[in-house]
Amino acid sequence: MSDWVYNFGDGAADGGVEMRALLGGKGANLAEMCKLGLPVPPGFTLTTEVCTHFAKHGKGYPDGLEAEVARALKRIEEIMETRFGDPERPLLVSVRSGGRASMPGMMDTVLNLGLNDETVEGLARGSGDARFATDSYRRFVQMYADVVLGVDHGHFEDRLQWHKEDKGYALDTELGADDWRILLAAYEGVIREHLGRDFPQDPNEQLWGAIGAVFGSWMNPRAITYRKLHGIPEDWGTAVTVQAMVFGNMGPESATGVCFTRNPATGESKMYGEFLVNAQGEDVVAGIRTPQSLTIAEREASGTKLPSMEEVIPEAFVELAKVQGTLENHYRDMQDVEFTIERTRLWILQTRGGKRTTNAALKIAVDMVAEGLIDEREAVRRIDPAQLDQLLHPMLDPEADRDILGHGLPASPGAASGKVVFNTEDAEAWVARGERVILVREETSPEDIGGMYVAEGIVTVRGGMTSHAAVVARGMGKPCVAGASELGVDTKAKTLTAGDRVVREGDRITIDGAAGAVMLGAVPTIRPEVTGDFAKLMAWVDEIRTLGVRANAETPEDALTALEFGAEGIGLSRTEHMFFDPERIVHMREMILADTEAERRGALGKLLPYQRQDFAALFEIMDGLPVTIRLLDPPLHEFLPHTADEMVEVATALGTTADEVRLRALRLREANPMLGHRGCRLGITYPEIYEVQARAIFEAAAAVVAKGQKVVPEVMIPLVSVTAEYTILAELVDTVAAEVMKETATEIPYLVGTMIELPRACLLAGEIAKSAQFFSFGTNDLTQTAYGLSRDDSGSFLAAYHDKGIIPIDPFVSIDVEGVGELVRLGVKRGRAVRPDLKIGICGEHGGDPASVRFFQDAGLDYVSCSPFRVPIARIAAAQAALGEAVEIDA
Ligand code: PEP
Ligand code: MG
Repeated sequence: MSDWVYNFGDGAADGGVEMRALLGGKGANLAEMCKLGLPVPPGFTLTTEVCTHFAKHGKGYPDGLEAEVARALKRIEEIMETRFGDPERPLLVSVRSGGRASMPGMMDTVLNLGLNDETVEGLARGSGDARFATDSYRRFVQMYADVVLGVDHGHFEDRLQWHKEDKGYALDTELGADDWRILLAAYEGVIREHLGRDFPQDPNEQLWGAIGAVFGSWMNPRAITYRKLHGIPEDWGTAVTVQAMVFGNMGPESATGVCFTRNPATGESKMYGEFLVNAQGEDVVAGIRTPQSLTIAEREASGTKLPSMEEVIPEAFVELAKVQGTLENHYRDMQDVEFTIERTRLWILQTRGGKRTTNAALKIAVDMVAEGLIDEREAVRRIDPAQLDQLLHPMLDPEADRDILGHGLPASPGAASGKVVFNTEDAEAWVARGERVILVREETSPEDIGGMYVAEGIVTVRGGMTSHAAVVARGMGKPCVAGASELGVDTKAKTLTAGDRVVREGDRITIDGAAGAVMLGAVPTIRPEVTGDFAKLMAWVDEIRTLGVRANAETPEDALTALEFGAEGIGLSRTEHMFFDPERIVHMREMILADTEAERRGALGKLLPYQRQDFAALFEIMDGLPVTIRLLDPPLHEFLPHTADEMVEVATALGTTADEVRLRALRLREANPMLGHRGCRLGITYPEIYEVQARAIFEAAAAVVAKGQKVVPEVMIPLVSVTAEYTILAELVDTVAAEVMKETATEIPYLVGTMIELPRACLLAGEIAKSAQFFSFGTNDLTQTAYGLSRDDSGSFLAAYHDKGIIPIDPFVSIDVEGVGELVRLGVKRGRAVRPDLKIGICGEHGGDPASVRFFQDAGLDYVSCSPFRVPIARIAAAQAALGEAVEIDA
């Protein structure tokens, strides 16, 4: 075994699946399959360390690599009984990339390498098929020119098109060996014209050219963007696998295809897949021909007339069925297997963990536990919490009217509405200014990743269930309707047409990715429920996790959703959000714009009944579970009146003039409202506000207790930076609590605590904890103030930081462990040093982000609180955090 090159083939291999970091997913699995005795064409893998060396040393290779590759190549020749460059029995190889994490379609591949003007004739004689040999050669020239030599494949497509027009051919299959020979000469002309040199004839030169190009593709812009979006580190590098070619295009008993060991859409435990007779792998991907089913059952279910593989090549089918069973039992997970049949002989080219819909993922995990393949803990590990999003978001209301524009394939489930955009740049620009969009394309390519990422959903008019759009959308958990051929798209004119109806850019549409439907307008949606396999898995999750999960909720509807999704309390109720209602906001404005305490108390008097009623509703719904109510924390600019009508409305309520209101609003305008007169600063300047809020909380609690329910209010003071802010306001709350308990003769157990959301509060956590009974980290403000990065303004420039890799992941989405996380750890340590049983939670947006949840578990928090729809995600993330690292599912 060498340091840089690992062999596999003929029932043996240097490495195995445990060497994924070094050999990449593809290389490691090929080695593993060889050791399982499966029919894998022999080959070798250049490790990811060669890639790192290549990148660091100006595209140079480690010493001795050339000799190692030569030795490895010789081994393939011996196994295959062919020789690289031999004019009679030429060995042909493929050169493919394969990193530790899958990056579908992001990097380059070269097939049929080793063909030249001489070996092509040897291949023709050996296979007895000159057409096949010349076709293979021209594919190679085209691919190699594109990937290695940088000659755009469009030039070759043009030549092919011209030749077909010349001869009156409609399909590529009409071209014979002589046609391909003519085209090969034309292709070589294109290369001479562009590069001033001939196509390289020396197979060794071809091989090193391809290896360099594949290693180089690790740094191409598409791959860099993909890695940033998926958090794949730059220094992982890619491995390169060189493998003997086998041919699925050697006649009617040859074929190529893909086999999933279970159905990737439903999770059903039945072999599922597609194949093409007399074709090479790229033909399946290109979508030019319609693939056929593997099994008779599947063919019948799909209602097609094209025969299945079970009927066409029965011996190979039986063997494939055996292989897929072996693979699933070995990997104990659903596998996505690529195979080729060369003249009835089955070869396995790749296996990896199969991508699946969320429903399928749940079913497979739960079924595998029942089958004894994995245990409950492993099942929980297997679920990608982020992917659950698709199940938790609203689905189309079955009762709602819908105006169907057209149908396509149900490529990725979920429903979404948004404004139509037709390219990635527009999608990104519209989303940056706060719009929700549906990206509509003819078909997507890796260049569209950015747009797909920001869109609510994706529609393509071409392509199938395994098209780029379908695969990527499923991976991202976004609704997608693919191949909606009833629709027409004109990306230049920016229109989508359905018969004689025209949808223009900015018009709203709705898509249902589970039904494959595209509808005009926004169709109402309903809340999903946690049942079946999902419920079973969630029960295991709750047994495993130690971190509590609460929800951020203000309205009864949110509280009900939270409960249904398994929240164990409310971790944050933002009282200012209770005033967004038009009927209430006027009183809120009245209070903000009051000039005197008397005016303010007047407005507060009007708000008190609303507050009491809202709190009582929350207490009743949560029925004894903790409810954290945060006292008012309104960045004033969110509530000041803007329009003339609003001014008049507030003026009437205050009994003054609109001009006076305008003047007061002007006086209250702040240059930095996020750092201004908000949070507890408001309570310090106008104690009557917090006093009335506290009264509403305890009166509501007393009323609910009187009905015989248990209530546990946790009153939370926001934006504390100085200990005295906390102690003054906590005392005020305690005073009101005592008053109300006395007035109502009711005992109400309650806590008073604080948000920790400013760096100074983290530093002084020990002091604050002397009086505060609990902490809740407000990581939104903590991120804002730790970075000095405005929550309201960062959107416009963070994208550039993302693109340049300076801040790869938005710190408002996933916690900045190094910086903000360090402040959290410090706050926890100092707080608990003073009060060891201090209850600590987090209620910023990060509470629903799986990576952040892992960090909070590690930091010793008691609970996370997140938006109701994210509660199940947080529960799974918490369970996985308790289990340690989640497994890498994909190969
Ligand atoms: C926070 O700052 O993290 C928080 C939860 O409060 P808000 O988002 O309301 O400022
Ligand atoms: Mg805050």
